[in-house]
Amino acid sequence: NYIGGKEEEEVFKAVDLPYIPPELREDRGEIEAGLQNKLPKLLELGEIKGDLHVHSKYSDGAATLSEIAEKARKMGLQWVAVCDHSQSLKVAGGVSVEDLRRKRREIEIFNQSSSDIKLLCGTEVDILNDGSLDYPDEILKELDFVIAAIHTGFKQDEATLTTRMVKAMENPYVHSIAHPTGRIINEREGYSLNLEQVFAKAVQTNTCLEINAYFKRLDLNDILSKTARDKGIKLTIGTDAHILDQMEYLRLGVFVARRGWLEKGDVLNTMSYDQLIHFLKRKK
Ligand SMILES: [Zn+2]
Ligand SMILES: [Zn+2]
Repeated sequence: NYIGGKEEEEVFKAVDLPYIPPELREDRGEIEAGLQNKLPKLLELGEIKGDLHVHSKYSDGAATLSEIAEKARKMGLQWVAVCDHSQSLKVAGGVSVEDLRRKRREIEIFNQSSSDIKLLCGTEVDILNDGSLDYPDEILKELDFVIAAIHTGFKQDEATLTTRMVKAMENPYVHSIAHPTGRIINEREGYSLNLEQVFAKAVQTNTCLEINAYFKRLDLNDILSKTARDKGIKLTIGTDAHILDQMEYLRLGVFVARRGWLEKGDVLNTMSYDQLIHFLKRKK
């Protein structure tokens, strides 16, 4: 007796399984899930409405706000969260409080005159050595979207780094942690972190974790994205684009998400602008 078929679907059918998408064929429980009809309906690129991590000229990005919006329009997106570096990250054009307010006003004016694309005024705020953030709360609360990230002290021990990250998540204005493990593919291992504590704190504080879609990061990776999803943590996909073309890495983030079993409801990027703004106010 041979089992086969013309198309893959028929092969799965012959062994009484629903079709398992290629991304899930990693022996991570997909057969069992298939037998119980519990396979996820994987996220599709077409469901993505925006990018949650783009740098502009305000910090070390190359593009103006309107150029970013125009690129988003060409990509069929509806909104972009412009998250520039914070004040103490001088090597990356960290934005002063004064310039951040100027950026916020520019975005307000842009949004009033733009009928399709909306911008969110965000920041990628540095998590400082003591776990405090690089802007005071009264500044963070004026922003639409706040991602916090570790960019310094990579060599610190696990307890120190974990405490920094966990403390940042306790801040009511931090929505997501950018590139949570800090790995750079072929260049650097991730920071030493107690990920169990990080995930637990994300659940407790309703903080999201990022899938950074920049091709050298892809962080969280697929396996950790699945762990986050299993715990009910929402993910934010951000390209970390510093030049316009890098916004197209958005699809790499979707590929990671699919390998991590993520569905439409697991990522904030599938929300409309209004839904997103409403959701982001929840944590505060
Ligand atoms: Zn960063
Ligand atoms: Zn960034």
